[in-house]
Amino acid sequence: MSDKFETHEMDVLVIGAGGAGLRAAIEALGQGASVGVVSKSLLGKAHTVMAEGGIAAAMANVDTKDDWRTHFRDTMRGGKTLNNWRMAQLHAQEAPERVRELEQWGALFDRTEDGNILQRAFGGHTFKRLCHVGDRTGLEMIRTLQDRGVHMGFDVYMECTIVRLLTDGERCAGAIGYWREQGRFVIFKAKSEVIATGGIGKAWPITSNSWEYTGDGMSLAYGAGAELMDLEFVQFHPTGMVWPPGVQGILVTEAVRGEGGILRNKKGERFMEKYDPKRMELSTRDVVARSIYTEVKEGRGTEHGGAYLDISHKPAEYVKKKLPSMYHQFKELADVDITKGPMEVGPTCHYVMGGIRVEAETAQSTLPGLFAAGEAAAGLHGANRLGGNSLSDLLVFGRRAGLAAAKHAKEVSTPTIDAAQVDAAEREALAPFQRQGGENPYAIHRDLQTTMQSLVGIFRTREDVQKALVELGKLKERWSHTSVEGSRMFNPGWHLALDLKSMLTISEAVAKSALVREESRGAHSRIDFPELSAEWGTKNNIVFRSGAEMGLRQDTRPEMPAELKQILAEDK
Ligand SMILES: Cc1cc2nc3c(=O)[nH]c(=O)nc-3n(C[C@H](O)[C@H](O)[C@H](O)COP(=O)(O)OP(=O)(O)OC[C@H]3O[C@@H](n4cnc5c(N)ncnc54)[C@H](O)[C@@H]3O)c2cc1C
Repeated sequence: MSDKFETHEMDVLVIGAGGAGLRAAIEALGQGASVGVVSKSLLGKAHTVMAEGGIAAAMANVDTKDDWRTHFRDTMRGGKTLNNWRMAQLHAQEAPERVRELEQWGALFDRTEDGNILQRAFGGHTFKRLCHVGDRTGLEMIRTLQDRGVHMGFDVYMECTIVRLLTDGERCAGAIGYWREQGRFVIFKAKSEVIATGGIGKAWPITSNSWEYTGDGMSLAYGAGAELMDLEFVQFHPTGMVWPPGVQGILVTEAVRGEGGILRNKKGERFMEKYDPKRMELSTRDVVARSIYTEVKEGRGTEHGGAYLDISHKPAEYVKKKLPSMYHQFKELADVDITKGPMEVGPTCHYVMGGIRVEAETAQSTLPGLFAAGEAAAGLHGANRLGGNSLSDLLVFGRRAGLAAAKHAKEVSTPTIDAAQVDAAEREALAPFQRQGGENPYAIHRDLQTTMQSLVGIFRTREDVQKALVELGKLKERWSHTSVEGSRMFNPGWHLALDLKSMLTISEAVAKSALVREESRGAHSRIDFPELSAEWGTKNNIVFRSGAEMGLRQDTRPEMPAELKQILAEDK
């Protein structure tokens, strides 16, 4: 094997170099493990770099009453209590320490007058809780983690896409990928693997997500036999750009509303008064997205089919200081000066709450030796994520995954790589070059996006989702006939053909889960079942591989301990 393929061996293989992957790698290194980090994009360019508004942590620097209990309660209520309560507890308890640590490693946060980390308001958070660096928090986070990790000495394999996880009996043994530049295959042999590959937003056409978001990690884990959970919960962020068409979907950070931005319809009405008079613009994302959607559908939308978001009542210098990226984004992309007038915004596919099923304490998946953290993992956010809770998720559970992966690596022997699995992965990956005149991967991607947007979008019905599943079946069949031209040297058509496998697999899991959940909860809105169901509130949807078929079952959620129930019930 080693003479046929370039092979690297390490204790812990981290797939993904965003916040979760880097934090996992740092922790595993700190435990004395040898660590390799693989990334589809260049180091420093992972999706996390785009995060804007901030990191949620109950540090109580601005609102001194804040504490982990309130953060826990907000997270559970935001997630419509479907969250893994133990993850929500650990997250709320550990986030402040993880932010302080980031600061010690060199992150330069905005400051309060007395020199503490400044915190801003965000939807669904009772107190001002988001630690931020203007609206470029993700950039600072990635820069800090990357400096720390490189300094500590992890090996980086960038512009390398993993196409299959390799197993040794019942455990994970490594992965096979290809260098995007040359198209050559490479094997990673490792005792533990951490998946930190982010989400699946590219299965929808209007999205804030980057090209990396094709659901690879979830699909890789599923293929290797791990379980996925709650994939029906896909978050549509209420405020993406709607005009001009070329920039549709690009995020307009929630920090605009956090800093006092007001939403109005074309008649000038502040419509959130109707939908959530208490929290108004700072309601949770699911509620605001549905409100904008409803205003547009009922004929009160703006010229380009959105709502107006206005921050121009604040002093221009303040807006430029607190929202510099938004100021430049609108000036350069839409020729709008947001210090003088409103922005046009509408819902955009943003985040997936579901993903790889993990244990709260260790972030281990249901496959021994395989761990997952960040957006690729499920549980923390339940049916809807609060803004700012992802960056803190990456730090808290990235660290826990790295710790447990290093421990696991110490306890097990070196795995054996199975030549038959490697050959099968190579054959499948190269198949599009063997076919002539087959299906075009770009056409399949376009049709997949149309299907997901129109049939598995913000509002869903049984009929639509059933149609989507039929369409997905046809798309899978077409995908098995894809062909690409040219060589393996940086060939975007070939890359897309491979990414499509992940997008189709995870889209099917989303649709199957959305079909059976006959209720509306958080980001999952069923027009035919508009209410919360007490019974579904006790269930998680579990997706698993059953031969060539995708299995789905419901597991009853474990009972919450009395002390957490009490915190959740407090009327605050
Ligand atoms: C515009 C925008 C603004 C946001 N703002 C905020 C915010 O202010 N606060 C907040 O909490 N959240 C925010 N979010 C959400 C948050 O940024 C993401 O959920 C989070 O960064 C995901 O981090 P991650 O580490 O899980 O994955 P990522 O940062 O996406 O990293 C994934 C990594 O996996 C790699 N990868 C993927 N597939 C493969 C493969 N097959 N082989 C090898 N490598 C692979 C990628 O190259 C990348 O390195 C925002 C999201 C967007 C889009």
